[in-house]
Amino acid sequence: MILADPVQLDLLPWQRDTWQTLRSAIQADRLGHALLIRGPAGIGKRRFADLLAAAVLCAEPGPEGLPCGVCAECRLLAAGSHPDLTRLVADADSKTGELKVDQVRALCGSQTMTSSRGRRAVYRIAPAEAMNTVAANSLLKTLEEPASATLWLLVAEAPGGLPATVRSRCQQIALPTPPRDLAMDWLRDRLAAGAGDAADAERLLVLGHGAPLRALALADATDLGAREQCLSALHQISVGQADPVAVAKSWQSLEPGLVLDWLCGWVSDKLRLAVHPDASCLVNPDQRGRLAAMAPDLPAAGAHGFLQQVYAARAQAQSTVNKQLLFEALLLRWAALTRPAPRQTRGTPRAAAR
Ligand SMILES: [Zn+2]
Repeated sequence: MILADPVQLDLLPWQRDTWQTLRSAIQADRLGHALLIRGPAGIGKRRFADLLAAAVLCAEPGPEGLPCGVCAECRLLAAGSHPDLTRLVADADSKTGELKVDQVRALCGSQTMTSSRGRRAVYRIAPAEAMNTVAANSLLKTLEEPASATLWLLVAEAPGGLPATVRSRCQQIALPTPPRDLAMDWLRDRLAAGAGDAADAERLLVLGHGAPLRALALADATDLGAREQCLSALHQISVGQADPVAVAKSWQSLEPGLVLDWLCGWVSDKLRLAVHPDASCLVNPDQRGRLAAMAPDLPAAGAHGFLQQVYAARAQAQSTVNKQLLFEALLLRWAALTRPAPRQTRGTPRAAAR
């Protein structure tokens, strides 16, 4: 699919140093014909690639080589309709997220045409590692014999997924994760400008693993209050302070897909911590303390079984399903797994044994 989103013409503050190292090459029109822009998710790789494209296409770049924002080229870029910038992404309805050979061939075929507006023709592929082998090989031929006045921008979070032959044809640009203060300032500004609640910035940045754009996307998708409620309820169930059936009832108003995603992330984290107490890559890094304290003796086999049940529930949740029964079944299993064994008394069974 070819993107027609507006190009954002401002430089992200943590990309300034990288820009400076490329500036003279941009200004002298000496950029290589293929660049591989890499770095972690959510730090603005695609935006940086777009900005490079804009700097190359702008008619009157500013003193730092940045696009002017006012010329006819910049106006076309800002409208997402510049004919010399083509951005290939996976089709929205693609199940695998793969970039197929036909899509890449079409792009390579179009590069024989010269730039429509007299500068360069720029092609951006993101994520480049989503190209399957045939597609990557098809691109390789083009990179080996590029048409003049073309610029290929490959964007990758996991460049190891690209064939070495493709990587070696590209000048590599590693973009950094910003220092925390810089990331927090930027995120707070965006949240305050309407993307969410600025008071959530710290938690969102932790959840986004320090990547500001990822954190901002989470502000859209995550109701932090509801998430906290859910995770707290799970903890209370595991220490016998909440009734699974009552909790299932209180979750009725929540979007089941979201709740089940939280559960998946949470149980996966619990399993990671059981193997490596210092595991650094958690889905919920802000929950490390609670996860470690809760159900310390949770048997791995039981946790894996529970995770499978959550996956199955997630698949079911797509269809019409009784949410009460779905949540109840999961929470009763969770209680049975995590509550300490009842003392040896001959009384009525506890709720956990229901
Ligand atoms: Zn311009």
